Parts: sequence; structure tokens; C-alpha cells
Amino acid sequence: MKSIAVFCGSNDGASPVYKENAILLGKELAARNITLIYGGATVGLMGAIADAVMQAGGRVIGVLPHFLKKREIEHTRLTELIMVDSMHERKLKMSELAEGFIALPGGPGTMEEYFEIFTWAQLGLHHKPCGLLNVDHYYDPLIALFNKMAEEKFMQEQQRSIMLTDTTPQGILQQLAGYTPPPVKKVLTDERT
Ligand code: AMP
Repeated sequence: MKSIAVFCGSNDGASPVYKENAILLGKELAARNITLIYGGATVGLMGAIADAVMQAGGRVIGVLPHFLKKREIEHTRLTELIMVDSMHERKLKMSELAEGFIALPGGPGTMEEYFEIFTWAQLGLHHKPCGLLNVDHYYDPLIALFNKMAEEKFMQEQQRSIMLTDTTPQGILQQLAGYTPPPVKKVLTDERT
């Protein structure tokens, strides 16, 4: 794998453990020669992971919409910063550049990005791995909800396997490397197909 998009908070979070893991993941990416694709900002965990990769001698491509240049503060020390016109363009560009995806802890923006990429995988629009780095069990409630979706048959069991989870940066990178995409989803209630 040559490039991974990381979705993560534009805030640091309440505990230092989140930033520590953003930095650890950044160092792992650089050590494995994997280019970081991310939102192009300096704020929060986004800035922390970009700085960690650059400081470790790795490559970082940021993708930032013009209107967020001031609010999220554009990162000026990246390998490349691509400016785009909208949030949709940002996500599309990031998904084109990346061979896999990891969500670190974050807020609604991080979730929006992760859900879109997960649902594109469900529909077979891409076959790239979608990992959640479950730092300090931050994502346990979301994992429980996904298990519930499968249990209550709002999602096929095999689609549930699209969501890779691990509590460590090394672990999640290993899972991404070993990912086999499931068959594309069918309508659950249609027994005839
Ligand atoms: P948050 O997790 O809410 O701190 O947001 C993390 C990042 O997601 C920030 O860079 C937001 O600008 C970005 N974001 C929020 N909504 C979207 C969206 N609809 N498309 C692309 N990026 C988004």
C-alpha cells in the first residue's frame, strides 16, 4: 500500500492519548513509506499526524477547500497541498489518491467522511480497506451500533466486515494490508436473488 487517507478530529480531544496515537500512526506511515493523504489543516489531530509524518521524513498530501483555508489554517509545510472548491471535491480527491482509509478519533466531520467511504465500499464503488483506529476504545459505541445493524438485518453480516478495527496503529495497518473485500451488498429482504 503506497497511500492512506486518514480522517481525524480538527480538535485534539480531551485526553492526550488521542494526539499520542495520531503521532504514532504518522511515524508508522513514514516508516512504511506510505504517503499520508489528509485534510490539509494544522488544527487538532489533523495537524499532529501531518507534522509527525513530515518530521519522520515521510510524504504528506493535504486536500483543503478554499473556504476552510483560514478556519482550519492551511498547512504550509507539506509535500503537496491541493486546494479544492468544496467538501465534496475534497472527499473525492482524497478517495482517489488513497489506497486505503483510517479514521482516528474525531467529531461529526470525521464520521461523515468515514461513513461516506464505508457506504461507497458497501456499494462496490471501491474495494479499498476502511479502518477505525479505536484509540482508548473511543469507537466502542459505534462498533456496537454496527453490530446491532447487522443483528437487526439493516446491514448484511458480510458488509459488517468492511469495518476494520484495532486499538493500535500497527494493528490497524496490518489489518488494512490483509483486507479482502466482501461481495457487493444485495437487498437484504430479497430472498429470490
Ligand atoms: P471534525 O471531526 O468534526 O473535527 O472534522 C474533521 C474534519 O472533517 C475537518 O477538516 C472538517 O472540515 C472535515 N469535514 C467535515 N464535514 C465534511 C464533509 N462533509 N466533507 C469533507 N470533510 C468534512
